[in-house]
Amino acid sequence: MQVKAVKFGGTSLSDAGQFRKVYDIVKSDESRRYVVASAPGKRHGSDTKVTDMLYACYDMAAAGLPIDAFFDGIRARFDDIIAGLGLDYNLDDEYEYIKSTLRHGAGRDYAASRGEYLSAKILARYLGYDFIDACHVVFFRDDGSFDDEYTYRNLESVLRGHERAVIPGFYGVMPNGTIKTFSRGGSDITGAIVARAANADIYENWTDVSGFLMTDPRIVPSPLQIKTVTYRELRELSYMGAGVLHEDSVFPVRTVGIPINIRNTNDPEERGTMIVSSVNCADLVGSDHVITGIAGKKSFSVIRIEKDRMAYQRGFLRRVFEILDLNGVNVEHIPSGIDTVSVIVHSSELTGKKELLTESLRRAVNPDYIEIQDGLALIAVVGRGMVGKPGVASRIFDAVAGAHINVRMMDQGLGELNVIVGVDESDFESALRAIYSAFVDKQ
Ligand code: ADP
Ligand code: ASP
Ligand code: MG
Repeated sequence: MQVKAVKFGGTSLSDAGQFRKVYDIVKSDESRRYVVASAPGKRHGSDTKVTDMLYACYDMAAAGLPIDAFFDGIRARFDDIIAGLGLDYNLDDEYEYIKSTLRHGAGRDYAASRGEYLSAKILARYLGYDFIDACHVVFFRDDGSFDDEYTYRNLESVLRGHERAVIPGFYGVMPNGTIKTFSRGGSDITGAIVARAANADIYENWTDVSGFLMTDPRIVPSPLQIKTVTYRELRELSYMGAGVLHEDSVFPVRTVGIPINIRNTNDPEERGTMIVSSVNCADLVGSDHVITGIAGKKSFSVIRIEKDRMAYQRGFLRRVFEILDLNGVNVEHIPSGIDTVSVIVHSSELTGKKELLTESLRRAVNPDYIEIQDGLALIAVVGRGMVGKPGVASRIFDAVAGAHINVRMMDQGLGELNVIVGVDESDFESALRAIYSAFVDKQ
């Protein structure tokens, strides 16, 4: 029999009605043996995710404020689900324990993790599956990185002892026993870890859209669905803002070739998007579009450095990077000319460091000109079909210029499968729509 690891996101578990859909999906295929649960998400546009409520509750406890009344709101989210499902199940002791732990100085990650913990407990009970607490099977190292070897070794043997189980997503345990979470959206990573440890045939990631769409549906209405995408393309797109899947979810499954299938809990018949290691030629030829997808993010800054004859000065870039490294600044892109280099970084990397950094760079490389500009948005146009195809960059440029938007920078790595375009933040949505329209509507 096949083994499937399935992960359900926050909107798929937002209320009792959604839990019922999840039940039907899991029970309709007996190979769906390992289920990873998120915390209940938004039930409607103005709702609050349980995870955000827990972060707020932590802040209140940390400030020494009473949390009882606020915690009642969290408790009600879970009790409504239990009541709506008609389950004979009582979590009162759990709530009391969590509240008292929060009052006694539990960490922020512990607080956030309780959404997944309680959600998975209810789901396990409802499905009649075993519950495996992630704090016994997902391990972090002292430096906070995910301990893959130790986790797989343990989780593999634990899963062998459970025919069917529900595991909470998003968190694991530090060597000192405290709870640690992945970054936001991290249940996707837990799903991939479980798929890998279960040696699953497929990792199904169930969410609220019918797969990976060519661009963000909140910016372009009803974008086309991507039927097949490679792990590499997916990394590029999710890293650059396609929030449907956490960008780190591919690592656990990529090396062992477990495909990821993104599916829609609200439309389970829809086949969704397959994420695979490579796509065969037939698929490529059959594709109508040169590009696979477009994603983007705001809040970038450019450190622009000019110096005559820079290209002839050995070690120039090395010195620039040394300074950035010393100041703990991560670099995203480095478009460069003969006498200029632009270092693009996430604006948050520069908080409180701008003056010191500029001064250190001045001293290290003595530039003719140096300036830090904020307010840049980056858009990545990604596609395996673009590699070696001439004219893609100019089509992107024409599309953006045609919408009367100034292109602040453009970067295409040699033989790469993406082109990055930088525009003013205020032009972000219009530029993204213009590029989508040029490659999809006008085909
Ligand atoms: P879950 O709670 O299931 O983990 P998320 O909210 O994390 O779901 O991700 C799904 C959402 O991602 C969609 O509702 C959609 O608004 C957003 N999204 C952004 N970019 C894309 C894209 N390219 N394709 C599909 N969805 C996208
Ligand atoms: N509940 C967590 C979050 O809101 C993790 C997840 O949903 O994947 O980020
Ligand atoms: Mg998510």
